Amino acid sequence: MEEIPLDKLIICSECHTVHRKIRLKDAKTAYCNECENILYHRHDNLKEKAFALSLATLITFLTASSFAIVKIEINGVWHDLTLPFVFVTLFKEEFFVVGLIVSFLIFVIPMLYIVIYVFVMMLMNLKTGRETVRKLLVTLAMLRPWNMIEIFLISILVALVKLIGYAQIEFGVSFWGLIAFILLDIYLTKAIRLADLWDLWDETYRQK
Ligand SMILES: [Zn+2]
Repeated sequence: MEEIPLDKLIICSECHTVHRKIRLKDAKTAYCNECENILYHRHDNLKEKAFALSLATLITFLTASSFAIVKIEINGVWHDLTLPFVFVTLFKEEFFVVGLIVSFLIFVIPMLYIVIYVFVMMLMNLKTGRETVRKLLVTLAMLRPWNMIEIFLISILVALVKLIGYAQIEFGVSFWGLIAFILLDIYLTKAIRLADLWDLWDETYRQK
């Protein structure tokens, strides 16, 4: 039997039939021939789209971490709650382990992920750095499961609901920045699969 590389195979999520992945030329979407479930889409202008989206995601991340996510009134004084403030407070209160884990999961890893993503897309658009991009794509695959910024948003919302009874709260600029960041981040990690980026890598540097 002919051996097919695993990344050229795709399994239908409905009926579990294995299909060989082909490059879509005329059609936009590939369907399962057993149950007509959608298998995958063709991404038009993926290189430009992913570059633009990752840049936008990086900008929203910078916005989300630079300004107040919420402003809280305690005893007549308004406090700005920023993302770095959360870690500083955890460390000040001597929650070192929690502080370290939290800062990695909701700050360091998402930041690394998006910075590497932007860099990868920039190099691919410039058609340079074949080996560097290959290594960075492997790094992205390792970081992906640890990118948990969505969980942070949920914790913030839970904390806000609890606080609303006690203090006056206003949403800051960064709250909307954070929401925009999380939505874009989910799109980048869920709608554009790593396999698509590998295909793009293959295509980009093969033509050289
Ligand atoms: Zn199927």
